Amino acid sequence: MIDQRMVDRRWLQAAIDMSRLCPATVTAYAVGAIVVDRDGTELARGYSRETGPFLHAEQQALAKLDGIPPDLSGATMYSSLEPCTTRGSFHRTCTELIVEARIRRVVVAMREPPVFADCVGIELLGKAGIEVTVLPEFAGQVKAINAAVIATAPGARAPSTG
Ligand SMILES: [Zn+2]
Repeated sequence: MIDQRMVDRRWLQAAIDMSRLCPATVTAYAVGAIVVDRDGTELARGYSRETGPFLHAEQQALAKLDGIPPDLSGATMYSSLEPCTTRGSFHRTCTELIVEARIRRVVVAMREPPVFADCVGIELLGKAGIEVTVLPEFAGQVKAINAAVIATAPGARAPSTG
């Protein structure tokens, strides 16, 4: 019998490892995303800004499936961070793209910190009938990789003593 938690942990770690490849910036998160089919076959992977400056990891991974739409009804999207629901550029949000792709499950390490927007990806995915699993034991790695971005949040600085 397959231990789903073990499988999830392995793929989420791979997604986090990939997020280290992202070109550095303090204006967007470094995220890695991998789409895995129900039988454990990797379908696509991507990371933030892989092929362009404003591109998100989930979007990059799904774009690789474009043109050959597989049946994703059994697939899981592993993303190091909660899929976005607000984008400053003209792109669709990753949550919209995941819903449209009819992916079955999404596994993330943590919610998007409230630096750029109040993300409601987990809520919107759930409303769309997509199962969401958070593995908080991986959040420390994601925070460390994105420390420079998270530090730009208004509430992130140490309180002034003045
Ligand atoms: Zn996104």
